[in-house]
Amino acid sequence: MGQYKLLIDGQLVDGDSTMSVLNPANEEVLAECPRASKAQLDQAVAAAKKAFPGWSATPIDERRKALLAMADAIQNDLQNLARTLTQEQGKPLQDAMGEVFGAAAFFRYFSTLDLKEKVIEDTEARKVVSRRRPLGVVGAIVPWNFPLILMAFKVPAALLAGNTVVLKPAATTPLSTLRIAELVKDILPPGVLNVIADANDLGGAITAHPDIRKVSFTGSTETGKKVMAGAAEALKRVTLELGGNDAAIVLDGNDPKETAPKIFAGAFQNSGQVCIAIKRAYVHESIYDAMCDELAKLADAAVVGDGLQQGVTMGPLQNKAQFEKVLGYIESAKADGKVIAGGARATEKGYFIQPTIVRDITDGARLVDEEQFGPVLPVIKIKDGEDALARANASSYGLGGSIWSKDLDKAMDLAGRMDTGTVWINKHADLAPNIPFGGAKLSGIGNELGEEGLAEFTQQHVINMARA
Ligand code: NAD
Repeated sequence: MGQYKLLIDGQLVDGDSTMSVLNPANEEVLAECPRASKAQLDQAVAAAKKAFPGWSATPIDERRKALLAMADAIQNDLQNLARTLTQEQGKPLQDAMGEVFGAAAFFRYFSTLDLKEKVIEDTEARKVVSRRRPLGVVGAIVPWNFPLILMAFKVPAALLAGNTVVLKPAATTPLSTLRIAELVKDILPPGVLNVIADANDLGGAITAHPDIRKVSFTGSTETGKKVMAGAAEALKRVTLELGGNDAAIVLDGNDPKETAPKIFAGAFQNSGQVCIAIKRAYVHESIYDAMCDELAKLADAAVVGDGLQQGVTMGPLQNKAQFEKVLGYIESAKADGKVIAGGARATEKGYFIQPTIVRDITDGARLVDEEQFGPVLPVIKIKDGEDALARANASSYGLGGSIWSKDLDKAMDLAGRMDTGTVWINKHADLAPNIPFGGAKLSGIGNELGEEGLAEFTQQHVINMARA
């Protein structure tokens, strides 16, 4: 493991203290990581503030070139970054490579966008145009499940729009992000991108910082509420991408052998630690038993282990707190339903849990109503799509959801009434940089990705000129 540094004002610097980052596959110390103090956060914000006038005045073509250079820098270090990501986050190496590659692709995507002036009215009476101005310093706060791809939802959009950034990864997964800081240090003018690491203690200071104009936050709903409260005093903009409890509604007519592997993938990718994972499967009574059996077979066949080992399909939970939380959900599910695969930790060492399928469980059970964020899926029997939709919509979350049916008209009808930010049909969790993404209800406020996501890093600016 290399030496890691913070990036503040164009300089790679030590933290005022250090902290240990663990490998969740063996619970051993992976690396010592710099830990920023509040004073270093203030330095990072001051550097970003100082860099803002220059960067926001830089022609957009130059900013585009910088994003492309950053994409190249990330992609050229793919092997190394992916290895670090697997070691700190836990996901299988192949998936880590996909995440690194995806992060580079998101930088490239944002480099193709524009902030065009829009003529709203051009008449004898007046000319009215709307432009998009950058906001200033953006605070970007990222969780531990997808440190790089979620960073790439935020940083390239913020930079393209002309903002400067203070980026903070999660305390348990800072290393790959700090490595990127090192890789891109010389691409941007000093202070345009600052990267700090904390021990889960500087988020509040970022949110409340008077010189930060916007907070782009991805994480849990509970922390999201704190971000919103912290941002209220200065009325700063927030984008909140929060928790979810995505339902997959599987209607009659599905072939369990064909559909179960897709449901399984949607639920168990990244060991279930995906905001838009399938977290409850509502399955029609006519295929319920067969779907449960197929899902259990897939769970039994999963190869759980250290993500660096060849052939492993599922890594550990990322951290001890999450590991214990998910084991708690499994214990409560044993009383609320029937465990037909998994149901326990997988090894003595490391935060491994066997992929777990629970049947004969229904709404009202903790595992169904709450966000488990781990490799355990409740399968709930339904009579029809209306019944399932009502249950899906009863959740206080509204991130994503999916309808699985051969009858596409019926699927479209149900999808149109699902109270979530995204609904997929016959697939789940298909994200792309050009498709806006955001949550309804307790799953968040605002959007990321696409032109809509870019717009959230800007202030609409109207110029209204008299003609006569
Ligand atoms: P978390 O809320 O505990 O932490 C997220 C980040 O917020 C970390 O960087 C943390 O250090 C920081 N933080 C902690 N306290 C803070 C405070 N008071 N103010 C500001 N920031 C603070 O979330 P987590 O446990 O790391 O991530 C898992 C959660 O994230 C799940 O609920 C998951 O569904 C959600 N998530 C949502 C999306 C989405 O796009 N909607 C994507 C991924 C994860």
